[in-house]
Amino acid sequence: MRVVSGIQPTGKPHLGNYLGAIRNYVKLQDDALAANGECFIFIADLHAISMPHDPVELHNSTLELVATLVACGLDTSKTVLFNQAQVPAHAELQWLLSGTARMGWLSRMTQFKDKSGKNREGASIALFTYPVLQAADVLLYQATHVPVGEDQKQHLELARDIAQKFNNDFASEDDPVFTLPEPYIPPEAARIMSLRDGTSKMSKSDPSDMSRINLSDDADTIMKKVKKAKTDPEPLPPEAAGLEDRPEAKNLVAIYGAFSGKSVDEVLAEYGGAGFGTFKPALGELMVETLSPITARFNELRADRELLDAILARGAARARDMSGPTLSRAYAALGLVRG
Ligand code: ATP
Ligand code: MG
Repeated sequence: MRVVSGIQPTGKPHLGNYLGAIRNYVKLQDDALAANGECFIFIADLHAISMPHDPVELHNSTLELVATLVACGLDTSKTVLFNQAQVPAHAELQWLLSGTARMGWLSRMTQFKDKSGKNREGASIALFTYPVLQAADVLLYQATHVPVGEDQKQHLELARDIAQKFNNDFASEDDPVFTLPEPYIPPEAARIMSLRDGTSKMSKSDPSDMSRINLSDDADTIMKKVKKAKTDPEPLPPEAAGLEDRPEAKNLVAIYGAFSGKSVDEVLAEYGGAGFGTFKPALGELMVETLSPITARFNELRADRELLDAILARGAARARDMSGPTLSRAYAALGLVRG
């Protein structure tokens, strides 16, 4: 089992990132070890330049993301944690795969259509070729399991298509260069919605800070945001079916469940009939209980630049070692002379 996943250093990590991605990485590192496998988690800084960005912010967000991942429980003795910019093999393999990826395949990617919007002519080339870099990210490590959200499944399909065509065109059937990666959607992956609108997901790019809980928020801010979260006037229903058509209530109950390890019905067995005046403070306290040690650890790590640099340097050295053989095979398969 070889797990590879990346996360972009854009904006501040929030509760949705934690419950939907980071917490699963922490579990997966033990699952991978137990299966004699390995877990690679990288900061997708090269992907972040595909959209207009501020270099100072990118620099800070990258360091903050390392601190966040470690504060949330990623253990660098179990997981290879690194950033793409320190492992040139990612950019190199992207170019090699660009000979195999087809314009037509990339033109069908919905993320490019969404993110370029009406201004297709003004979109960066990087935004268009983004999925090729993503393919390189996972193929370099012979990934078997790639944890992805729904939104990234199409890109992983593309990575498989690229790997398959490359293997067909340039390798023998019994000795392929690349492993075909499988999408892995963790069973307990939660999709967390905005605190201001239960029908849109909690997101870094939402202009309202009240729409999300940042992992760097202090206890008072968390309590305030939960108390101000949008809800309806009804008390909580006795069972899950009563949450249909009540997206905000459903989201808060789901968050309570994710933090307490309880099912929605178990949460409602306890709080059914209670109003939000009772439920919200209980939810806020539960969040603070889990998040405050993470925030404290984050603040310590963020202040220790030497430690963050050391973590990244060690991760990058391992990632370079682990990706080297596949990169060399890809060069050789294409007939490129490297001495
Ligand atoms: P942006 O708004 O810039 O796209 P984002 O909030 O969606 O930012 P990403 O960096 O795109 O965050 O996502 C990082 C990881 O967190 C991905 O694995 C993604 O699937 C997951 N994730 C993001 N938002 C949520 C959410 N609201 N609920 C669950 N998982 C989420
Ligand atoms: Mg996103």
